[in-house]
Amino acid sequence: MLRLRGITKRYGERQVLDDVSFDVAPGRLTGFVGGNGAGKTTTMRIVLGLLARDGGEVTLDGAPLTPEERRNFGYMPEERGLYPKMKVLDHIVYLARLHGFGRAEATRRATELLEQLGLAERLGDNVETLSLGNQQRAQIAASLVHEPRVLILDEPFSGLDPLAVETVASVLQQRAADGVSVLFSSHQLDVVERLCDDLVIIAGGTIRAAGGRDALREQHATNRYELVSDGDAGWLRAEPGVQVVDFAGGFAVFDVDSDDTAQRVLRKAVDLGAVASFAPQHPSLSQIFKEVIQ
Ligand code: ADP
Repeated sequence: MLRLRGITKRYGERQVLDDVSFDVAPGRLTGFVGGNGAGKTTTMRIVLGLLARDGGEVTLDGAPLTPEERRNFGYMPEERGLYPKMKVLDHIVYLARLHGFGRAEATRRATELLEQLGLAERLGDNVETLSLGNQQRAQIAASLVHEPRVLILDEPFSGLDPLAVETVASVLQQRAADGVSVLFSSHQLDVVERLCDDLVIIAGGTIRAAGGRDALREQHATNRYELVSDGDAGWLRAEPGVQVVDFAGGFAVFDVDSDDTAQRVLRKAVDLGAVASFAPQHPSLSQIFKEVIQ
């Protein structure tokens, strides 16, 4: 388990991280979400030891991180950094060899990884001839080729088309399933919501919410329901304890003051017509995000 506790960072007078604490568990994808300037990159660079912290602690399995362990981390920085004139396969083989693999093993790993990432046809091409999306896939291969225990990716999905998002996501999910701790930052809330097991929301250098995705959605659940029926749902407006939020024909979204009211509404809806669906609405990540960053 990678654990951050009470991390603080100042630039001059400016506090950019204030008491940042969260966990990145092995076997899970943790999404790190926040707007521009929220403190995501600063936090990641502190975890990697590329930036000094002013306070707090980063531990791995309960012990402070050693430089040796950090060298084994996989990192994809936001500023991409592959050599443009090098061939894609040669590049990833070269990086694997820097981590100590022999030529044959390095080539096997690099080829397999690039194939998984959908670059099988491009192994012999220079990095600079690849589209930006494909360069990003190669960059992800670079962060993974030494099979790190901890993987930290700064905006791995930005600039990828939907198909590439799926390819990269499945590679990351596979790594997580193999027991790797994966932390990735993103401002694409829909992607994070779909992929992540755990979420960390940061704003203004402080953690606003952290935990399991489903637990967070439940914590932030409101008493909001959606009804779809074949009748006219207008009667809901006059119903005690009900506040209609949205309404069109047989469709309505409404808040209730108690579970009893919800049950009463359901019984009445069934009496009045065929009910196609009646269900509580869980908030989307984007709704939770808006709520916690205020
Ligand atoms: P994010 O990755 O969430 O966009 P960053 O971690 O890059 O946010 O930045 C957090 C804050 O720290 C921002 O307000 C940014 O302007 C500030 N910052 C980052 N690097 C420096 C630096 N070298 N000097 C001064 N301020 C910095």
